[in-house]
Amino acid sequence: MSRLLVIGCGGVAQVAIQKCAQNKEVFTEMCLASRTVSKCDALKEKLKGQGYPVKITTATVNADDVNDLVKLIKDYKPDAVLNVALPYQDLTIMDACLECKVDYIDTANYEPEDTDEPVWRAAYEKRCKEKGFTAYFDYSYQWAYMDKFKEAGITGLLGTGFDPGVTSVFTAYAKKHYFDRIDTIDILDCNGGDHGYAFATNFNPEITLREVSANGSYWEDGHWVETKPMEIKREYDFPEVGMKDMYLLHHEEIEALGKNFPEVKRIRFFMTFGQSYLDHMRCLEDVGMLSTTPIKFEGKDIVPIQFLKALLPDPASLGPRTVGKTNIGCIFKGVKDGKERTIYIYNVCDHQECYKELGSQAISYTTGVPAMIGTALVLTGKWKQPGVYTTDEFDPDPYMDMLNEYGLPWVVDEAPKLVD
Ligand code: NDP
Repeated sequence: MSRLLVIGCGGVAQVAIQKCAQNKEVFTEMCLASRTVSKCDALKEKLKGQGYPVKITTATVNADDVNDLVKLIKDYKPDAVLNVALPYQDLTIMDACLECKVDYIDTANYEPEDTDEPVWRAAYEKRCKEKGFTAYFDYSYQWAYMDKFKEAGITGLLGTGFDPGVTSVFTAYAKKHYFDRIDTIDILDCNGGDHGYAFATNFNPEITLREVSANGSYWEDGHWVETKPMEIKREYDFPEVGMKDMYLLHHEEIEALGKNFPEVKRIRFFMTFGQSYLDHMRCLEDVGMLSTTPIKFEGKDIVPIQFLKALLPDPASLGPRTVGKTNIGCIFKGVKDGKERTIYIYNVCDHQECYKELGSQAISYTTGVPAMIGTALVLTGKWKQPGVYTTDEFDPDPYMDMLNEYGLPWVVDEAPKLVD
């Protein structure tokens, strides 16, 4: 029995909320709050029509405003807040949870909306030099809440989507059940889906394009090695999907895994991209459309990447037209009982199956299901621990069981192909 406040009602939120409704024992009351409340109202009606017993209310909230959030949390009195808005809102929502002493859960680590803001920029440039990677997002801002969350007796569960989220749980599971020592981890994210558009992104375009146009990097022997965007390319034959080109990216779970599994010598992250996607992205970048710096247009300030977002298809609308499968998982190499061992733990998810079940495509599905699972584990006390933690820091077994139960079954391949 619990009361959950969900913030955001986009592609990922729509899946997370529907999955919460399916988990009747844990989620008995929910408030759906977002900037555009009509999306929350429409989802409330959909769930009512399907006969779910969960009691739903809706609210408008500006999640950039701590006072607005605090007012909503004090009015609704939730047991936890699930943040499925954007990474820009992580810190304001954490501040509000701290003030109201309520558990906090999210799916992506903090990055600022305005990367030209001078105070943030100075800290960012210092961090680039000290840590050796230049992505706009990093965990330091949220890890800084550790003591404050401990003092308040509340849990902050960071990054419970698929990657990060499930990939980190796979790591904890591999360590617990398959290895005495893990030497290398390759995280592979393959989307074999086709939506028929020449160019569209599968989750928030602004967040996606910022991530994939940035420098790549990987963790090796305790430090970061940075690469140019898309500099390292490999081919991989993904089970149930087939041969795909994939490119090395910087990705947030590498930072947490490098810290929490110091024995691991190398951690890399690869994502598949088709040639059309890369050509469009390069062209948009070359003409300045991926810029986050406002420009003046006919007397108004316009942020090019936000204007581009308005032109691109809404990721939540891709469901009916996307066919094919995703394959996301981790290849681990290491040692068990003195013998070398390699395994690939992965999930395959079918875009059309997701659409049939919830009306969404597989990228939102594979993120929204783990968002529900992480929230349920905090609410039921299985993953409740004052402080802020990533998903690799808890017992992976209940999470792995719930992946099977709620639509993301996983496979352990004990003789996988390796990535060179
Ligand atoms: P969408 O853009 O589809 O949805 C974002 C939602 O947040 C929208 O409903 C939006 O409102 C709302 N929102 C944005 N700003 C505010 C604000 N200031 N106040 C209140 N509500 C706001 O994004 P996605 O659903 O694709 O992504 C959601 C999150 O999931 C992101 O943080 C993303 O990085 C993360 N993600 C994580 C993955 C993982 O595997 N870990 C994979 C994919 C995504 P409005 O409707 O008005 O625009």
